[in-house]
Order: sequence, then C-alpha cells, then structure tokens
Amino acid sequence: MTSRKVSLRSWQKPDYKKKNMTKSPNGNTYPAPEKLSFPLEEKRHEWLPWLIDVYYTTDLGVQEGIRREEMKGRKLACHKGCSSCCRTHTTIPVYPIELTGLYWYVIEKTTGSIRSTIKQQCTDHQAGQPCPFLVDGGCGIHPMRPQACRHFNVFSIPCEEGEDAYYSRRQDVLTPISKYKEEALSKMLPFHKIKGRTKRREAIKTGLVHQYVHVLQEIDWPKLAVRMV
Ligand code: SF4
Ligand code: SF4
Repeated sequence: MTSRKVSLRSWQKPDYKKKNMTKSPNGNTYPAPEKLSFPLEEKRHEWLPWLIDVYYTTDLGVQEGIRREEMKGRKLACHKGCSSCCRTHTTIPVYPIELTGLYWYVIEKTTGSIRSTIKQQCTDHQAGQPCPFLVDGGCGIHPMRPQACRHFNVFSIPCEEGEDAYYSRRQDVLTPISKYKEEALSKMLPFHKIKGRTKRREAIKTGLVHQYVHVLQEIDWPKLAVRMV
C-alpha cells in the first residue's frame, strides 16, 4: 500500500479540440471534461459505466480546482508534452476498478505503434520502475489513466527532470476538492459490492475504500503484455 495521496497529470492527451478547451484568466487552457463513451462495451461490462462516472467526476473536480486557483492568479505549469512526472513518480495509487479498466483498454483498444510500445514496455517492466504507459511523451492510455494521474497538476513552473513536486513544493500541487474526490471514490464502491448511499458513505468516512489500493509501478505488467496477442 502506498502513502502517496495524489499523483500525476491530466495533460498528456495528444490533441484537445479547440471547442473543448476553456480559457483561464491568465491565458492557459484546460480541456473541458468529456464523459467517456463506449456504448457496446458498457453493455457487456457492468463495471465500465461505474468507471466512466468515476473519471468524469474526477475530471470535473480537477477542472473546478484549477479554475479556483487560476482565479487567484495562479498559473498552471502542466502543458502538452510535459511528462517528466510520469518518469519520476514511483508510487502512483491505483484501485482495482481502475486496473480492470486499464487492462481492458490496453488489450482491446490500443492499436498500432502505441500498442507495440506499450507491449514492449510492459514486457520489460520490473517492479518499482516508472509507469510503462508513457509513449512518446504522452500517456498511451490517456482515457483510462488513474484518478491519481488526473489529479496531479502543478502550478507556477514545470517540474524539473526527476523532481516530484508533491515533496519539493507541495504548495504548487493542486489539492483535489474533497467533494469531487469523495464522490468519485464512492462511485467505485459497487465494484466491491458496497452499494447503497449509507454503506458507501461509511466506507469513505472510515477509509475502508483505501484498503483496496495498489501501486501502479509494483503491478506485474509483463503479465499484461502476455495477454496482448
Ligand atoms: S508540470 Fe510537472 S506535473 Fe505537470 S505535466 Fe509537467 S512534469 Fe507533470
Ligand atoms: S498512466 Fe502512466 S503515462 Fe499515463 S499519466 Fe499516469 S503515469 Fe503518466
């Protein structure tokens, strides 16, 4: 289990369409969250609509958190092509439903050179090494990147190579808004057979939800590579 509370970025999507970007007061742009949609697969996999909801709630919270900071005059440092955090961080928390989504996405949805690069990086991955899904400076599994990656945003200046801003300058790291974070965590709970508003609220309050967490860099990724036929 990891002690890290948050990790990694929201900017590594190759291209955001202009119409989906919101302009901040200081000129930065942040992509307006779009709910993922996989109509056929959502019918086949009970967990997928839950996960889509988790990520949509998370993204809305990140957007609102960044908006609030920018209204105070802060400038988001994360930008397209900036990805040293993906190489630096070694304890990214990932929950079982996120791992399920990640496995599914990699096996069924990746194609071409991104797929072959991910396959090779998973094959070569050893526990504790950086995330194997960084491809050409961008996230190769962007729609299915974990909440921790979505949450991690840094203000002021971009991270230096090897810098983990969470420890070097915590004040520059976005603090997720509790309301959105807890709602997103709550939406994961049906995956663990915890249903009903009262039970889910209790699981969040007691921290039960965190007993399920893994560390992304400790997962046996070569096993995933084997399934990528
Ligand atoms: S500024 Fe830091 S956290 Fe943001 S994308 Fe760049 S390296 Fe990652
Ligand atoms: S899943 Fe890996 S490559 Fe993608 S954002 Fe997170 S750390 Fe970076």
